[in-house]
Amino acid sequence: MELTRLGFLKLVGFATSCLAFGGSVWANSDQGGKTNFVTKPKGMLMDLTQCIGCKNCQAACQKQNQLQGGAYAEELSSNAWTVVKTVEVEKGSEKVKRFVRSQCFHCLEPACASACPVKALHKTPEGPVVYDAWKCIGCRYCMVACPFGIPKYEWEKTAPLVTKCLFCSSRLKEGQQPACAAACPTKATLFGNRDELLVEAERRINNNPNKYVNYIYGLKEGGGTSFLFLSDVPFKDLGFPTNIPNTPLPDYTWEVMSKIPGIIAGGGILLTSTYLLTHKNEGESKKKIEGKGA
Ligand code: SF4
Ligand code: SF4
Ligand code: SF4
Repeated sequence: MELTRLGFLKLVGFATSCLAFGGSVWANSDQGGKTNFVTKPKGMLMDLTQCIGCKNCQAACQKQNQLQGGAYAEELSSNAWTVVKTVEVEKGSEKVKRFVRSQCFHCLEPACASACPVKALHKTPEGPVVYDAWKCIGCRYCMVACPFGIPKYEWEKTAPLVTKCLFCSSRLKEGQQPACAAACPTKATLFGNRDELLVEAERRINNNPNKYVNYIYGLKEGGGTSFLFLSDVPFKDLGFPTNIPNTPLPDYTWEVMSKIPGIIAGGGILLTSTYLLTHKNEGESKKKIEGKGA
């Protein structure tokens, strides 16, 4: 009984701190190759025509985030926050191989963050959608809400967390580019200000209309994403979801979730019990996530 009250009070505390939470703005300036984070939200441009499938980005992500065993994975998991898949597609009369990076898209208005009842996920003004593991109650609404199926859960752990790419937010704070972008030998993964990356993407399409599909994936999907993609074959053929509405998903998310029996009515009980279950080792979880590089 005492524990239940404690859990409830902590939940109230989370809600209060969420209300008090405001977007902090980094004060880094453009000096010594460092990036200005004050006014420009960051993004990544993945030009799939330049990807050679070397998986350096995947290995760099593993190292940066102290992940084990996912360096050659082809599917996202709690141990692989980005993967490079090999896809065989038809181009004209030929079959060709393409290499497709997959990770969190860092939506401009993320459905995962909107669905999270304790604001464990939130979009920073600088671009990354980050995760406060110590707030997470393990309800996994974020996993249901994400239109790209990105967040994964550490099912194998006794104190499981939700996992996904964090856009190397700690590196960005230090004025460094994400580990995956730094490791890419061909600049197939390009880091920068999202608005400038959009201009660059349009420039590439306009200068090479016979090379690229005339579409920037991520420009509009779900209201737009921080990670943008260019390709020379249709995105649908590469396995990208092409049925995502162009309007922001957060409001839609709650509209849909509120119709799922038990989500609202059982929410209080669910939140309290999942909180108690997942926060038995809260200190340990917090220490773990703080020790990670992203
Ligand atoms: S891709 Fe999914 S997990 Fe990533 S920010 Fe968008 S909704 Fe959230
Ligand atoms: S931005 Fe960082 S966390 Fe995300 S895929 Fe790249 S290396 Fe991994
Ligand atoms: S490091 Fe660059 S070229 Fe190599 S797989 Fe990743 S995106 Fe492609």
